[in-house]
Amino acid sequence: MTQKTALVCGAGGFIGGHLVKRLKAEGFWVRGVDVKFNEHAETEADDFVIGDLREQSVVRAVVDRRFDEVYQLAADMGGAGYIFTGENDANVMHNSATINLNVLDACHKRNIKRVFYSSSACMYPEHNQLDPDNPNCAEDSAYPANPDSEYGWEKLFSERLYLAYNRNHGMECRVARYHNIFGPEGTWEGGKEKAPAALCRKVASVEDGGTIEVWGDGLQTRSFLYVDECLEGTIRLLRSDDFEGPVNIGSEEMISINDLAKMVIGISGKDIRIKNIPGPEGVRGRNSNNRLIAERLGWAPEQPLKTGMETTFAWISSEIARRHNH
Ligand code: NAD
Repeated sequence: MTQKTALVCGAGGFIGGHLVKRLKAEGFWVRGVDVKFNEHAETEADDFVIGDLREQSVVRAVVDRRFDEVYQLAADMGGAGYIFTGENDANVMHNSATINLNVLDACHKRNIKRVFYSSSACMYPEHNQLDPDNPNCAEDSAYPANPDSEYGWEKLFSERLYLAYNRNHGMECRVARYHNIFGPEGTWEGGKEKAPAALCRKVASVEDGGTIEVWGDGLQTRSFLYVDECLEGTIRLLRSDDFEGPVNIGSEEMISINDLAKMVIGISGKDIRIKNIPGPEGVRGRNSNNRLIAERLGWAPEQPLKTGMETTFAWISSEIARRHNH
């Protein structure tokens, strides 16, 4: 049997890095591409190209053959401190849209059929996410559209782009809407980190008896999905023969940000107080709705949030300790 091949765009990133490992473990030949290597782990890709996917010539060189599976995860993105302040809007829209236009067209011109695209829960309308206890993120609530960030608008445009290539060019692209993916080997400092990693860093860095700052009143709610679970959903969707999405890949275990902070404090074993301060916080409430993916792919997360948070806290603590020892 010939070895299967995969291309992972954004392989130097958090989810892309984990995906390369997973595909290698399955026996694939893997090419990764990114503007950078992953900061946290040596890549396991057979071939890793440092290149800018906004450049058409780079994309054509990377997509120089047919791949059995293409995963397009590259995007200009970050946590609330990056996408909700407004300062990065033009870059976010221009960079991510250009990457998607280039990658999809290059795949079409190589006659590659299956491309996975990671959209985001950030494309859901803001007006359905005002009640922290009762947000609506069912797939069919997406329209009329009203995302709360330009990041979300770009995702919505690109979702439609992939599905239009299916319709007009006979491709078989698959579109998922990820909901807050977290885990080890993700960004945990510098301004692009998300809430789980930021809270782990704050708790790990403060002394016993200290205080950590949490953005907003802390009553805003979210759900978080551990990266390995995300990959399982991703791969099942890409390999599904009759379901293109868009479909949520997330967890339905909704939690307030203050309760998430308390969970991390509990894991640390320290006595730490929470101080809520003004800061970017995004929509009031968001939770995945997994009805459609359960029905079509038989997928649901297997482990509770706390299990993944324990692993993530341990990893970030060790990164901080390693830094101090240098
Ligand atoms: P990440 O930022 O760690 O990875 C994205 C990677 O894309 C980065 O390594 C970055 O260097 C690369 N990239 C950006 N611009 C590039 C360019 N011009 N050329 C080549 N590479 C470029 O993010 P992630 O958390 O791994 O997310 C992966 C995908 O999933 C993204 O599309 C993101 O929007 C989507 N997503 C993630 C989450 C989440 O919670 N992590 C939630 C919703 C959607």
